[in-house]
Amino acid sequence: MFHHENVCYSTREHGLRECGSNEATEMKLSVVVPVFNEESALPITLARIEPVLNGTSWDWELILIDDGSRDKSLPIMIDRAAADERLKIISFSRNFGHQAAITAGLDFASGDAVIIMDADLQDPPELIPQMLALHESGYDVVSPQRTSREGEGFFKRWTAACFYWLLRKGVDERVPPEVGDFRLLGRNVVDVLRQCREHQRFMRGLVAWVGFREAIVPFQRQPRAAGETKYPLLKMLRFAWTAITSFSALPLRLSIVVGMTSSGLAFLYFCWALYAALILKRTVQGWTSLVALQSLSVGIILLSLGLIGEYIANIYEESKQRPLYVVRTLTNLNRGNHFSIHSGIE
Ligand code: UDP
Ligand code: MG
Repeated sequence: MFHHENVCYSTREHGLRECGSNEATEMKLSVVVPVFNEESALPITLARIEPVLNGTSWDWELILIDDGSRDKSLPIMIDRAAADERLKIISFSRNFGHQAAITAGLDFASGDAVIIMDADLQDPPELIPQMLALHESGYDVVSPQRTSREGEGFFKRWTAACFYWLLRKGVDERVPPEVGDFRLLGRNVVDVLRQCREHQRFMRGLVAWVGFREAIVPFQRQPRAAGETKYPLLKMLRFAWTAITSFSALPLRLSIVVGMTSSGLAFLYFCWALYAALILKRTVQGWTSLVALQSLSVGIILLSLGLIGEYIANIYEESKQRPLYVVRTLTNLNRGNHFSIHSGIE
């Protein structure tokens, strides 16, 4: 694997990067953590991540993305970053959402590998050494897979199961089930992801689309360390909808199937009506059937129109080519080391 200027290449086996001049430097890991109103969880999370990172043979940076938090998350981060410049902060001008925060983290990450993890310790940092070891042995993507979800209610588990089923069946079977945004991505994967600038973002789908070699590591998902989920039901449904419509035209095609089936049924009904009128000579009252057919077809037309509207809205959003996020301040980072296209801070 060649490094940025094609002068360095990595020897993953021992976490060292060899350069042209024979000197070996440490490989660097970037840990990207999106943060939205996590004042209660953040101190516990940082206290658990840092010792794990120090215990590896890798050099590291921890990029915290403040996604427009309205609580004390940002002051807590700034306080910590003042003491250790490996802690870096990207602070957004407002809430741009989880997926945009991850994107900003990838744009600024300078490591040879990036690990994305939540700020609430649902993703155990203790898994990091194992993920690094797998990366060193040649895997470009290392995906921890949840074998259980502690502290999550029946409803969340059930909706999540439906979501992953739908994703794999209808959208992309390369998306592994029960794998969230907690992942290790090699530099080659990150470089490709940074070129995907669509607004309807679903990172897991994008990672599957990029390809490369992937290792799966089973783990038990922990309950939140503190605070509340930032994904209430409506936001979760919107996320699922984005995941599906950004990757697949399945709903559009589905409306064609529904339309064809109902037209078929309507045709059969029409044949029966002709038979009843011409052969059986039964007087047909007509009104009920007309109303039924009318409402059925209007319903289907509206449904299909709605779906087409949804996709046109997506085209409209993408055509504006707005930045995916807006940065208000940077701490321990400079504007020079981010990806320049459309990232919103030029
Ligand atoms: N998050 C974010 N912006 C948002 C919502 C969430 O940056 O608009 C962060 C949040 O702080 C956490 C991660 O995304 O680090 C996942 O959110 P959460 O734990 O609330 O989701 P859940 O695990 O309940 O699905
Ligand atoms: Mg969580």
